[in-house]
Amino acid sequence: MENLKPLSPEKSFGEYVFSEAVMKCKLSKAAYKVLKKTIDSGDPLDSSIADEVASAMKEWAIEKGATHFTHWFQPMTGITAEKHDAFISPTGDGRVVMEFSGKELIKGEPDASSFPSGGLRETATARGYTAWDCTSPAFVKEGTLYIPTAFFSYTGEILDKKAPLLRSVEALSKQALRVLKALGNNSSKQVISTVGPEQEYFLINRKLRDQRLDLLLTGRTLFGAKSPKGQELEDQYFGRLRSKIIDFMHELDQELWKLGITAKTKHNEVAPAQHELAIIFDPASVAADHNLLVMELMRKVSKKHGLAALLHEKPFAGINGSGKHINWSIATDDGINLLDPTMKPAENIQFLVFLAAIIKAVDEYAELLRLSVASAGNDHRLGANEAPPAIISIFLGEELNAVVEAIVSGASYIDVGRVTTNLGVSSLPVVTGDATDRNRTSPFAFTGNKFEFRMCGSSNNIAEPCFILNTIVAKELSDIADVLEKAENVEPVAKKLVKEIAGAHKKVVFNGNNYSAEWVEEAARRGLPNIQNTVLSIKELQSEKSKALFEQTGVLTEKEIESRYEILLDHYSKTINIEALTLIDMMERQLLPATLGYALKLAEISEKTGSEAAKARLKQITLLADSMDNELAALKDAVNTAAVDSPLETAMNYREKVVAAMEAARAVIDETEPIIPADQWPVPVYSDLLFKV
Ligand code: ADP
Ligand code: MG
Repeated sequence: MENLKPLSPEKSFGEYVFSEAVMKCKLSKAAYKVLKKTIDSGDPLDSSIADEVASAMKEWAIEKGATHFTHWFQPMTGITAEKHDAFISPTGDGRVVMEFSGKELIKGEPDASSFPSGGLRETATARGYTAWDCTSPAFVKEGTLYIPTAFFSYTGEILDKKAPLLRSVEALSKQALRVLKALGNNSSKQVISTVGPEQEYFLINRKLRDQRLDLLLTGRTLFGAKSPKGQELEDQYFGRLRSKIIDFMHELDQELWKLGITAKTKHNEVAPAQHELAIIFDPASVAADHNLLVMELMRKVSKKHGLAALLHEKPFAGINGSGKHINWSIATDDGINLLDPTMKPAENIQFLVFLAAIIKAVDEYAELLRLSVASAGNDHRLGANEAPPAIISIFLGEELNAVVEAIVSGASYIDVGRVTTNLGVSSLPVVTGDATDRNRTSPFAFTGNKFEFRMCGSSNNIAEPCFILNTIVAKELSDIADVLEKAENVEPVAKKLVKEIAGAHKKVVFNGNNYSAEWVEEAARRGLPNIQNTVLSIKELQSEKSKALFEQTGVLTEKEIESRYEILLDHYSKTINIEALTLIDMMERQLLPATLGYALKLAEISEKTGSEAAKARLKQITLLADSMDNELAALKDAVNTAAVDSPLETAMNYREKVVAAMEAARAVIDETEPIIPADQWPVPVYSDLLFKV
């Protein structure tokens, strides 16, 4: 239990972050003021201060043990990228000095030809640049100064997941300020989106993980019969944390706190070996960076504890997969949470205008929200009864729903007040209820003073859903501002607008059980899209509506849309291809040989002893081995014929044919596994992986 030493987060928090406090003490007053203005108000960065900031950063980083710096970026691969450069510069007399210039801070040039660009960059013109994102703080990790950056091509098109997020934050701020101003708020200078992600993950024994090629190469088990015990006793959720797990979690917290990441809540999740970590919300761009670090450190720290952190959306069939709830709100620089309904939401016109904008945005651009969380991994979750369906709807809760209903019908809203509960035990407190109960099945739920977008997969970069959310809401706020700015008497106009919007988009509001079959039918009647998989979802990126949205808000150009479309399809096809090849490898080299080996043994026994038990099993196993072989051949055929000229058709082939062939193969394997002796099955089974942590 050596990791349980008393911690002092008050001392260690942010120790390795070039934070505002550090900047204040290391920079001249003038330079600090300029930089702070860019960070807070999005003013253009004045590059004349770059040299001073770089020098202060270097000095501080060296104190923290750094010898290198890196521009840290988020290419379209799904993970982060970094190339480390030493600070050293030779003096000519056989010594070196440590140098870091403003130019090096502001701009980097990774040799970028090996990152996905979706046709935006030929290898011959391989230049790609990274640009310092000063809105997310630099930090030191393992002897290197990390500088968060955005990544773009020689011709200025963005090639990453960070830049669209930054653009969307600016678009949202601009349009929200217009609306606020029209409504009479002149004090707020900046609007930010705040984001708090809750990260789910599995922890399993690392030695067992290493014995499965599928977990190593694809992050999930491609086969595996159900364990005799699963999650049916509901004894894992919020269960006692075992000491091995708590040791890991403590160390993870410590590492995260040092990097200024507010790890706050940790608990066991529903499935065996599943856990969750939530951090306190940050501005969206910082939250995205922090969540990437959370995932990275989960992997790293788990290794030290003989564990493996699985971040895949569906590591195991038959039990819950992992998601990432994104708590999202909009706030002003002077501390107003624009999604706080206050005690009297029906009279809070500012709140109602923002709520209307969000309802309309989610209804109008449901396809894009769906796309923002689409991945091969998440296809296993959305629509299964553990995660929201693929249909986007909004849960408002009782109070807000009544408010919206009243607005739409023109009736006056009667405030019924909040419920208090007396538990009938005098030593227990009387508790006042929240404005709403929870709805755990809704993909987009209002939770008091923020929305919780629940469809995101556990391995997703949250920059994607956040950038879509910000963009679609910016668009609707812009349309609203157009109307309000022209109004002479703004209040009645705003009320009328809220009524119109709520009436026209009420169909996206659903407060019932999103997991039920009735909802799927009801949603179809309402005309809500139900996009079944990633490939169909990617298609939506090219719709005229999407193009118009991105152009109007300035978040993506047409060329950038085109490039992302290709990258997303390609990434999907490659992911499924790797899964299929891994399964083929395991079937050919491990599963079939084990099955046939057991058949041979049974043949010997039955011949030597005449055992009826052996005979019966031999017959069964021989049949299974034959069907395994047939499914293997079918899978090989599906993989070999999947790739065609069109990227969309290729992805469709992977989705329709290869995934189906993998499922058929899996069915035979899962039927075989439980009747093969434990010492002859070549890989750990579900009960090993889930319960021998
Ligand atoms: P829950 O509502 O899920 O019970 P919390 O209220 O503690 O739990 O919040 C869960 C997550 O939502 C945390 O990451 C928290 O920081 C975040 N959160 C709270 N308020 C906001 C906000 N205004 N904007 C964005 N995220 C928020
Ligand atoms: Mg929550």
